[in-house]
Amino acid sequence: MAKDDKKGKAPKAKTIRVSKKDAYAVTKDGKIERKKKHCPKCGPGVFLANHEDRLACGRCGYTEFAKKK
Ligand SMILES: [Zn+2]
Repeated sequence: MAKDDKKGKAPKAKTIRVSKKDAYAVTKDGKIERKKKHCPKCGPGVFLANHEDRLACGRCGYTEFAKKK
């Protein structure tokens, strides 16, 4: 026995955790500064993931390409 105990346990699905604290920063003035853009489709609360040349929403797939200056 003993070694078969793990059998039947489904592996836990990985949950992608987005920490909201990374999305905001408090300035010296005590103001809250949004560091990340939120998704125009999903609305505030869903932030766009920062990629090298684009911003992408992990929820709906919205992608916004960074404008090159
Ligand atoms: Zn979205």
